[in-house]
Amino acid sequence: MIGAIDIGGTKIAAGAVAPDGRILYRTECATSPTQGFGRGLERIIGLLRESEQHAGGKIKGIGVGSTGPIDPETGIFGTVDNLPGWKGSNLKQPLEHEFGVPVAVENDADAAALGEAAWGAGRGKRRFIYVTISTGIGGGLVFDGELYRGVDQSHPELGHMVVEASGPLCYCGAHGCWEWMAAGPAMVTWVRENAPAGTQLPVDLSAKEICRLAEQGDPLAKKAVEREGYYLGVGLANLVTMYCPDAIALGGGVMASAHLFMDRAREVVRTSCTLVPAEKTEILLARMGADAGVAGAARAWYNRFGKPRQS
Ligand SMILES: [Zn+2]
Repeated sequence: MIGAIDIGGTKIAAGAVAPDGRILYRTECATSPTQGFGRGLERIIGLLRESEQHAGGKIKGIGVGSTGPIDPETGIFGTVDNLPGWKGSNLKQPLEHEFGVPVAVENDADAAALGEAAWGAGRGKRRFIYVTISTGIGGGLVFDGELYRGVDQSHPELGHMVVEASGPLCYCGAHGCWEWMAAGPAMVTWVRENAPAGTQLPVDLSAKEICRLAEQGDPLAKKAVEREGYYLGVGLANLVTMYCPDAIALGGGVMASAHLFMDRAREVVRTSCTLVPAEKTEILLARMGADAGVAGAARAWYNRFGKPRQS
């Protein structure tokens, strides 16, 4: 079994994962990034020891999926917005030293893409793209079982493809990025900006709540949902036109309401991608759900060091 660590801005999930993707034990703790990397590392080691104890065995490797940027070779963190103070810290070396096993580190979206490709919606799909849509948009590309990496081992940022060149300025420097137009917060911003004067909107309005209102027939929420489907579709259409994949799987919190968006998104793909066999690209929902992070981290290890059969 493999020890798996999924590092996010607010929590660290961990577990022990069998070669067939079964999660044998799962646990988590707060990331508390402001306490510094050293304390975070202590907690990570503690979670792995706990996983070994409960799963009843020694881990033979450790897979890590982390909010990025993180160098997949060295395991050194870059400037990670939601992990202040972790920049320049090496996660791989101390884990290898502590457990005496090989450690594989990946960006979390890449790890989730590998997990979904091997054990979820991407099984048997040679050219597979995974996209997660929640407070941001991220994803990974897995072709013939291998993760696609860019120059210098870089992770392509699917969420920052431009889908509306006249759209709002993103922190990345571009205007109208997919993430700014179609992640959960984009729905909230749009509803706030387009609500008739005097409308009382809840302070904690969320994409989930907007979807609930749309299902009840609220006209503004229905427009927000239509717009979500449209921009989701524009980004997917770009991926279909550029890569002609066998399948694209969609995960993340916003996709809990996929039934409200998918017809519109598929319509955009159908009408936009006429130069490629777009009808052959399956657009599916991801299957790993809440396990995507932990299973993906383990799969990142198997992909680099293990290569078990995918069945
Ligand atoms: Zn951007």
